[in-house]
Amino acid sequence: MSIPADPTLSQKQRIFARLVGTLLDYIYSQGFECTLGEAYRTPEQAALNAQHGTGISHSEHTKRLAIDLLLWKDNQYLTKTTDYADIGNWWVQQHSLARWGGNFHSLPDGNHFSLEDGGFE
Ligand SMILES: [Zn+2]
Repeated sequence: MSIPADPTLSQKQRIFARLVGTLLDYIYSQGFECTLGEAYRTPEQAALNAQHGTGISHSEHTKRLAIDLLLWKDNQYLTKTTDYADIGNWWVQQHSLARWGGNFHSLPDGNHFSLEDGGFE
């Protein structure tokens, strides 16, 4: 995939969608399954999440640059961030802007896969 040196938000959104396809393939190739969680989130919902301490108001979900995936293995839903580490470590190698929520300092979030934009993850 050709990647512009300084992509616009719209270009990043399309790069992200394509990368999510490769992420889903990788998850299944590693013997996991997954279900799709939240991708786009309205700014109003992000503000509510911030009020309740369950998210941040400037979430990359509001820019269509994040998706939450729920991993499964052997018919079990995996709930620990460490369960996602191998997938997250692979993800961050796929693009210089790729970020995994398990690496976040304030609100670690193993389900979260995103592209950074404007310093936000
Ligand atoms: Zn998320």
